Amino acid sequence: MSDFLNTPIEYLKGVGPQRAKLLQSELGIFTYHNLLNHFPFRYIDRTQYQSIVEAIQTEQLVQLKGKIHSVQEQKIGKKSRLIIQFIDSSGIIDLIWYQGYQYLLPKLVDKSQVFQVFGKPKRYGTKVSISHPEITPFNEIDTQIGWQAVYSTTEKLTNVGLNSKGIQKIVATCIDLFKNHPLAENLPEYLMDNYRLLDRKTALISIHQPNQVELASKARYRFKLEELLVLQLELLLRRAISLNKTAGHKISEIGETFIDFYNNHLPFDLTNAQKKVIKEIRKDVGSGHQMNRLLQGDVGSGKTVVALLTLLMGIDSGLQGALMAPTEILANQHYIGLKELLKDTPVRVELLTGSSKTKARRIIHADLLSGEIHILVGTHALLEDIVQFKNLGIVVIDEQHRFGVAQRARLWKKNVIPPHVLVMTATPIPRTLAMTFYGDLDVSVIDELPPGRKPISTLHYTEKDRLKLFGFIKKEIELGRQIYIVYPLIEESESMDYANLMDGFTAISKTFPLPQYAVSIVNGRMKAEDKEYEMQRFIRNETQIMVATTVIEVGVNVPNASVMIIESSERFGLSQLHQLRGRVGRGAEKSYCILMTGEKLSNDSKKRVSTMVRTTDGFEIAEVDLELRGPGDIMGTQQSGTIDLKIADLSKDGQLVAMARDIARSILKEDPRLERNEHEWFKTTLIKRLTDKPNWAEIS
Ligand code: ADP
Ligand code: MG
Repeated sequence: MSDFLNTPIEYLKGVGPQRAKLLQSELGIFTYHNLLNHFPFRYIDRTQYQSIVEAIQTEQLVQLKGKIHSVQEQKIGKKSRLIIQFIDSSGIIDLIWYQGYQYLLPKLVDKSQVFQVFGKPKRYGTKVSISHPEITPFNEIDTQIGWQAVYSTTEKLTNVGLNSKGIQKIVATCIDLFKNHPLAENLPEYLMDNYRLLDRKTALISIHQPNQVELASKARYRFKLEELLVLQLELLLRRAISLNKTAGHKISEIGETFIDFYNNHLPFDLTNAQKKVIKEIRKDVGSGHQMNRLLQGDVGSGKTVVALLTLLMGIDSGLQGALMAPTEILANQHYIGLKELLKDTPVRVELLTGSSKTKARRIIHADLLSGEIHILVGTHALLEDIVQFKNLGIVVIDEQHRFGVAQRARLWKKNVIPPHVLVMTATPIPRTLAMTFYGDLDVSVIDELPPGRKPISTLHYTEKDRLKLFGFIKKEIELGRQIYIVYPLIEESESMDYANLMDGFTAISKTFPLPQYAVSIVNGRMKAEDKEYEMQRFIRNETQIMVATTVIEVGVNVPNASVMIIESSERFGLSQLHQLRGRVGRGAEKSYCILMTGEKLSNDSKKRVSTMVRTTDGFEIAEVDLELRGPGDIMGTQQSGTIDLKIADLSKDGQLVAMARDIARSILKEDPRLERNEHEWFKTTLIKRLTDKPNWAEIS
């Protein structure tokens, strides 16, 4: 980098030591380079005006044109404030200053003067006002301003005059100096040509001072691609490094146990998607490297049988398998499922959970160590140090998002050679996120449901439809079906949710009195064995209605249950709604999902509900979810912290991510060690990144 760009920020005119300190601590800006890389997050068209009616309906920055209706200075104790009522032909809005308005007062006298006002409206109760807007007499406005850059800043910086506009000013000063200095291109020429990228220096200037907005978007495009490219190169390199490093159990041949099961005991033909995934896994476990694969498949896509086939691959090589589930209910269900599938085979499968009895537990511990148990199903209890295998070779983790990174790391200690790991998730992750957050894992997708599924109809009901709802429940039960009714459970208001659940239970029990209808209840406060008891009653169809909190969210499989009613569904996230809906539609009957909500819904809730009504495609739902929540919320802070993007936005730049992935692949194919001169910048940047952060692949 040029010496000029390395100049400490405090030497920039208009900055000085005090502001420099804050720029460093608040935004990590130490040098001119850092300042120029503090990109604006958006631009506003200062040639456009909004009307006041439009303004009071938004919380975005607006520009208004109008006159002053009244000026009032209020004094409250020592404090004072200025309130201007500002009008245009459409309406009226308050402009408020809490300090520093003395200089304005003389300008505000002329009621016939037209002003330009620029600021962000905010609603306080029923009133909308703009605090501390820019206000300029129309004949004094700066006609130079076309598009204006908006910067993120902090309260401390704002207090020393470095609000967005202040930052804009020092950036402008810096750019004036920068214009006279050269800046070498860092991207290879073939990329510049192929993708018609703006050169680095022009881009760095235009991103801040977009005299044409097209130029700013070209600049952003360039920097986004640069950023995503580095990220994808990093992920691919990490993957390559960990593959070279981590030896795995090499399963050279698939033995009799697998083949016998595949040919003689599979209760159905696998879907093509399942076959494809099995092949991918087969290749992994035969490679001599440790498998680290993420399997994505929508609810009901048939992941369990894939898990079983995976575990069977190791058995004839003397490798034991483990299947971990996040809850006891699920572990239990998997255990029952696998036992059923394996009933005519010599494969021994056992269950270990927190509530396994001491005696049974001891036997399991011993038989694991002697190798007599082939497959162990369980919960976190599997991870305890006392659980030792003779030769653990393959681990399948169901519903990965509930297992912390640290817990997974403990698996590595279970054998000298770390076991192959298959992580399964029913929460489809948008392609963009998978490519980024799991960029160093291999990803398989089951993108096809087993044949013969009846589609699920999803309906949106509100409180006034409750009688209709009861009628519907009655009719379905008379047809012999079973019904889930799910209540939210949000930790902050746990007792209120609990009360709602119990009220619902009572109402349902009264509306549908015994003996025709029996109602089960399951919630988080119950003991595991009581939950299990209630679950089992429902599974055996001794109860027709299951009233529950989200403990039933994942995995529960009761094919005769064909109706899912979700109470206060506006309080659930999209992926949760999708998970819950996946509990039905598993049998031969037509299934329904009914989303109950209040009458008034926020825009986001409306979008969630309408998405659910419109589609059952998990990947489509995941894309909407990403749009609504952003990548950070979806992946959890722990993981999103590992990917720190400055300009690209994973929820909006999906195409670019895919493009960067392809480019990164072809770069590494041609030049795996980045030895060419034109890749010099990638190399130095990546060496730094690879040595700065721990290797995620090892702990995923
Ligand atoms: P999930 O991916 O949600 O874990 P499961 O493995 O529980 O899905 O499978 C859902 C249901 O579909 C189970 O009843 C299972 O037996 C059945 N199933 C799985 N694969 C097939 C297939 N290829 N053909 C028919 N039914 C299948
Ligand atoms: Mg499952």
